[in-house]
Amino acid sequence: MSFCNHSHAENVQIVTIDSPLSHILKTKTEDIQIDELTLAQEILDKLFLALKPYLPAAGLAAPQIGISKSIFIFSFDRNPNNLEGVINPSFIPIGDTKIEGWEGCFSVMLSNGMWKLAKIPRYEKIQVKYLNIKGEKVEKFLEGFAAKVFQHEYDHLQGIENIDREDAIVLDFTTQEEMLSFMQEVKKEDSVHYKKPN
Ligand SMILES: [Zn+2]
Repeated sequence: MSFCNHSHAENVQIVTIDSPLSHILKTKTEDIQIDELTLAQEILDKLFLALKPYLPAAGLAAPQIGISKSIFIFSFDRNPNNLEGVINPSFIPIGDTKIEGWEGCFSVMLSNGMWKLAKIPRYEKIQVKYLNIKGEKVEKFLEGFAAKVFQHEYDHLQGIENIDREDAIVLDFTTQEEMLSFMQEVKKEDSVHYKKPN
């Protein structure tokens, strides 16, 4: 997808769990209306700008930039060129199989001293439905890392932070460096499960 190229350096801050706006992370989002596609594009542009300093990255949801709307961006392989805009998503699991994996979340990782990663069982395969930026209905099958990220970002739209899930095993780190080096190993493990949605 394409994002607008701002000539000026616009700065979009990521809302963290210790920020004054953190209540937005715990609020269920509102759907985008079909006549709000211009607004949707503006939000997608802001999501991309907010994520830019941290690329390559898996995704970011609107509440993480303080906007309580049902939109996120995600990439099935952390490649910025594959970042896709997802509007009003829903999903159903294909089968019961869940895979446990570690997840980082920018709203936690960028906080001031609350360095945590969560191990969460996610459905291995899901069927997803959403609108693209043109307002067209999209249906896809996701598996592996793509399914994991989609479910993580979907949680954000439900007002759920991964470390707050009942099925999460949360690992605390004393320093941000320790957390980031653990995350490097997680990314290597993730890369085995990169599979293009179809
Ligand atoms: Zn997150």
